[in-house]
Amino acid sequence: MSPTVDDIAGLAGVGPKTATLFRELGIDTATALLEYLPFRYEDLRFPTPAARLGNAPGEENAVGVVTGVKERRIRHLEIVELSMRDDGRDPFVAKWIGQRRFVYGRFRAGMRLFVRGRVERSFAGPVVNVTQYAMLGEGESYRGELVPVYRASKDLATRKIGAVVKKNLSRLLALVPKDTVPAAISESRGYATLREAYRAAHAPDTPEEAERAREQFIFGEFLALATAAQLRRAQRERDRDAWALRVPPGLLEEFCAALPFALTGAQRRSIADIWEDMTRDVPMNRLLQGDVGSGKTLVAAAAIVLASRNGIQSALMAPTEILAAQHAAKLAPLLLPLRIGVEAVFGSQPQRARTAATGRLGSGEAALAVGTHALLTEGVDFDRLGLVIIDEQHRFGVEQRARLRAKGSSPHTLHMTATPIPRTLTQSIYADLDVSILDELPPGRTPIETFAVRVSRLERVYEFVRANVALGLQAYVVVPVIEEGELELTSAVAEFERLKADVFADLRVGLLHGRLAPRDKDDVMQRFVRGELDVLVATTVVEVGVDVPNAGVMAVLDAQRYGLAQLHQLRGRVGRGAAKSYCILVYPDEASEMERLEILTRSTDGFEIAEEDLRLRGPGELAGTAQSGSGDLRLADLVRDFDIYRAAKDAAERIVSGDPQLAAAEHAGLRALLERQPSTRALLFSS
Ligand code: ADP
Ligand code: MG
Repeated sequence: MSPTVDDIAGLAGVGPKTATLFRELGIDTATALLEYLPFRYEDLRFPTPAARLGNAPGEENAVGVVTGVKERRIRHLEIVELSMRDDGRDPFVAKWIGQRRFVYGRFRAGMRLFVRGRVERSFAGPVVNVTQYAMLGEGESYRGELVPVYRASKDLATRKIGAVVKKNLSRLLALVPKDTVPAAISESRGYATLREAYRAAHAPDTPEEAERAREQFIFGEFLALATAAQLRRAQRERDRDAWALRVPPGLLEEFCAALPFALTGAQRRSIADIWEDMTRDVPMNRLLQGDVGSGKTLVAAAAIVLASRNGIQSALMAPTEILAAQHAAKLAPLLLPLRIGVEAVFGSQPQRARTAATGRLGSGEAALAVGTHALLTEGVDFDRLGLVIIDEQHRFGVEQRARLRAKGSSPHTLHMTATPIPRTLTQSIYADLDVSILDELPPGRTPIETFAVRVSRLERVYEFVRANVALGLQAYVVVPVIEEGELELTSAVAEFERLKADVFADLRVGLLHGRLAPRDKDDVMQRFVRGELDVLVATTVVEVGVDVPNAGVMAVLDAQRYGLAQLHQLRGRVGRGAAKSYCILVYPDEASEMERLEILTRSTDGFEIAEEDLRLRGPGELAGTAQSGSGDLRLADLVRDFDIYRAAKDAAERIVSGDPQLAAAEHAGLRALLERQPSTRALLFSS
């Protein structure tokens, strides 16, 4: 298919100007227009009899003859009211009101019209507030359609898009690609041919038909996603080239004996999962999920210990230097009793220290490297890298993760995240990962108490902060934007100036935000860590990585701006010491955010909060980042369409187990699609 033949400008009804407007919507080709599906339909098929108008929610249709015209014009405002009678001779009113409706002077008694709009019931009968109308010929019987609604732009209306699609429909349908869903599966699910599905989406006869087509497309998207995941899993299972480690008797007891506390049940279970994985010659690919403070570091340490006992090296990669440094600091005391040293590999490290570390890693003398992206650089080599641990894995790209793994040969991989992902989503987003969950906090924590407070009581909040500072604690004030003028929100700079000059004039106040130079950021943070600041005004840069046990209060301004999961993450910055900690969520007086924020005041369970956040906001970024590399979902929604996903996953399992290279003729469409995606292409050509 040469680009010129497929060009959007080649379609009937598309001149150069319209072609440009289509291109602005990302529709360059006829094929792209074919795939530009309507997101809903307006049902203009049946007029409602006047006597029944006003009973349905949303817009309604009516057809009738004009019996009287009342019109007024006040400057640009037009008010046109038509008295109408429908075919049953029942009266209703069609009303236009607003600027530039361009209907003034258009109507006369005796005309026959179709009108559509929201209906109000008035004293004088139903009133249609017209959004669409059409003139009908005298005695013309009304024949309405199901009208597709396309995402439009300011200059290219859905109506124009629809008209172009309609005019070129058979030409567009000739471009329908090979179906990615094998025919047998498609039939068993009661789907039509792909060509018929596109027809039903763009020009449906009934809403049921359109809905069916939509489901069919969604199934197709999910099938590609799930097949890619199955291929990855199958490849791992096939290669069998990982180090199959041996768990020496008594190792767990030896590890526990060196700890100042007992493992939680969840830690015990996770360690068992991981050790079990590592005894297989199939490389582990496991996600360890657990809230901040649930004790992931310790579980990672157990994996490192097993590797080291088998003469295998480990590497732990974290997204920032602060996080990597914290990991190194937490791991060292856990591993030292077992004679395992930690080699740090950071970007900012002096060259001599780096050379020494890489030397020990290259020779195999050192068992563990902890670092940032710096681990990925050339010159960081390992002798026998067999375990890769990736912290906050969603913050690394597919390619970066692969690069670290490539430094070993089929290493076992443990991903860690403190971002709790709802259980329903883990199944689909992480289809090729096994999952262990730390859903139990170590004992002896004082839970953080959380309040939601209206901003008119902000001064009271600050009094509370002051009282806690008087007790020797430190506080965060979290603010959504850095500078004034970005939306109508409190800015970090302004609030910092105000607090320093006025509210907390006698306290030591610092300012931290993302636009500070890295050195200044570090400097402020270090002062806060050392206790030289009482109050830190900060943007969400404090979200990850900062561990200051003496910080006991956090006030979050404009809390309505954040997702629940993000607020939960932020809140994890306090409550890390022995003292009771507080989180105060401040929201605007006029906002009705109470209900949403209230979830945080009663729950500290990250999974419950994530589940709730998902329900309220949809999978959004969460799904977006995790899916990258698995093909994109255009129509499908992992939450709403979860049942379809499950069916697609079952189908994918059957496909891949029966035909791991997708070589069969009925899998050609699916194979072609996956071959077009770089992340899955390799899976199909490896043996
Ligand atoms: P995460 O990495 O999941 O945020 P950490 O591994 O940093 O959590 O653990 C948080 C704190 O809890 C650390 O100070 C750690 O020493 C402590 N901790 C971990 N496991 C336990 C346990 N089983 N009992 C008591 N304290 C624990
Ligand atoms: Mg941690």
